[in-house]
Amino acid sequence: MSGSETWNNDKESVVYNALPFARTELLNVPIKSARILCQGDDVKKVIEIIFDLKDHPVDFLPGDTIGIQPINRDQDVNFLIDTLELSSNTDKKVNLSIMKTTQKKAAKLPNYLPEITTNRILLRNYLNMYSAPKKLFLRALVEFTDDKRERLLLQILCSKEGGGFYNQYVTEKGMTFLDLLKLCPSCKPPMGILIEHLPRLLPRPYSVANSSLKSPKELKIVFSVLTDESQKGLTTEMLEEMVEKFLKNKNNPCSVNLYFRDENAFKYTQDDLNKNIIMIGIGCGISPFVGFLEHKFELEKQLVTGKRDFKTWLFSGSRYCRNALFRKEICDFLEAGTIDEYFESNSREVDSEFKYVQDQIVSNAERFVNLLLCPQTKIYVCADGNEISKKIVACIEECIKSVCNLPIEEASDILKDMRRNARYIEDIWL
Ligand SMILES: Cc1cc2nc3c(=O)[nH]c(=O)nc-3n(C[C@H](O)[C@H](O)[C@H](O)COP(=O)(O)OP(=O)(O)OC[C@H]3O[C@@H](n4cnc5c(N)ncnc54)[C@H](O)[C@@H]3O)c2cc1C
Repeated sequence: MSGSETWNNDKESVVYNALPFARTELLNVPIKSARILCQGDDVKKVIEIIFDLKDHPVDFLPGDTIGIQPINRDQDVNFLIDTLELSSNTDKKVNLSIMKTTQKKAAKLPNYLPEITTNRILLRNYLNMYSAPKKLFLRALVEFTDDKRERLLLQILCSKEGGGFYNQYVTEKGMTFLDLLKLCPSCKPPMGILIEHLPRLLPRPYSVANSSLKSPKELKIVFSVLTDESQKGLTTEMLEEMVEKFLKNKNNPCSVNLYFRDENAFKYTQDDLNKNIIMIGIGCGISPFVGFLEHKFELEKQLVTGKRDFKTWLFSGSRYCRNALFRKEICDFLEAGTIDEYFESNSREVDSEFKYVQDQIVSNAERFVNLLLCPQTKIYVCADGNEISKKIVACIEECIKSVCNLPIEEASDILKDMRRNARYIEDIWL
C-alpha cells in the first residue's frame, strides 16, 4: 500500500465492484417517501420506504430482491482511525497492490476493492469490522500488539488448546474485531493486515414490495427494526436514521446505494394469473405479497377475457390486531376480488381465536388441502426461514395427513415434491 496526495472522500470516489448476484450496477437512489407502519409497546417498529427510480428505469417484479450497500458507522470508523493511529494519513490517496516481497502463493487483491482509495473509504465502505475475527487473523495481530498480557490473550485465542475460549468468547458471545481492539488497546495492526483479514462489507438483501405495473418509477421496501439498540443491524440503523432525517425535512437529500439482484422463483408473474395462489406472510413478511396483489390487480385490469376461475388466499400473522400490516390495502384487494380469502392471526391478542397462521390453516384444513393439492396451485411463504417456517411446514404436512388419510412420510413427500417443482416457494430472510 502506498500513497501521499489527499483525496476526495465523497461518494463519487467510491466504486463498488463485483456486487454479489447483481443484475444491475449500483444505483444511487433517492428516497421519495417514507412512513412508519407501526411502532410502540411490544411490537417491532416497521418502516416503509419508497425510492424514486425515475433516473434508473429497471424492470422488476414484486418479490425480486435488491441489495442495499451499507456504510460503517462514523463513530466506529473514527474509533479505528484513532486506535490504529491513522489520523495523519486517513484521507491521503493510497494505491493498493500486493507486496512484491510476499511469501504467499497466488496472493491477490480482493476483487471488490478499488486500486486507488483512502484509508477512510476502506474503513467506511468496504471492510466489515463487525465480523468475528478468525484464528488466522488473531495470529497475525499478535505481532502488532505491544502489551504482554494482550499478546498472551491473542495467542491463547488462536491456539489449538484455546479452542474452548475461542468458542466461548468469539463464536458464542459474538465478539467482533472492534470488541477485540477495545479489549487489546495496544494492538495496532497496519491497514494491509485489515485488508487481508477483514471480510467484505456486504450489501444486504431486501424484497421488493410493490408492482412496477402500478408504479414503474417507484421501488418499495418494508423493514423492521429491533427495539434493543444494541441489536440494531448496520443497514437497519442506516435506513432508520435516513428515514428520520427525511421525515424531519423532506428537502433533506437522502439516497441509498442499491442494485437489483438476479431473479429468483419468489415473484409474481403473469403466469400466476392461471394458478391458485396461497400466500403466507409473517410480520414484515406480508409486504412482498402486497406487491404480488398490486401486480395481480393491474394484470387483471388488462385482461380482455375477464377474471379467471383461480383462487387467491392470503394468510398473515402478527402479534396484535393493531400491528397487522397493510390491512387497509388487503381489505381493498378483498373487495376488488384480487384475493378471495384473507386469514389473519394475532399471536399476542389475548382473546384471539387464531394465534398463529397454523391455527388458521388447521381450522380450514380440508379446504386448504384441497386447494393446495390442485395441480395449478402454488404456495408462497415469507416467514423467518427458521422455527416459524418449520412449524408452518409441519402443520401443512399434518393437515395433508389427516385430510388425505396418508402416512406423515407421504404427506411430507408431497410438500418436498412441491418444493422441487417450484410450487412451494419461500422467501427466506436470514
Ligand atoms: C432474500 C432476502 C430478502 C430479504 N428481504 C427483507 C425485507 O424485505 N425486509 C427486511 O426487513 N429484511 C429483509 N431481509 C433481511 C435483511 O437482509 C436483514 O435484516 C439484514 O441483513 C439486516 O441487515 P443489517 O445490516 O441491518 O444487520 P447486520 O448488521 O448484518 O445485523 C447483525 C445481526 O443483527 C440481527 N438483526 C439486525 N436487524 C434485524 C432486524 N431488523 N430483524 C431481525 N434481526 C435483525 C440479525 O440477527 C443479524 O444477523 C431479507 C433477507 C434475504 C436473504
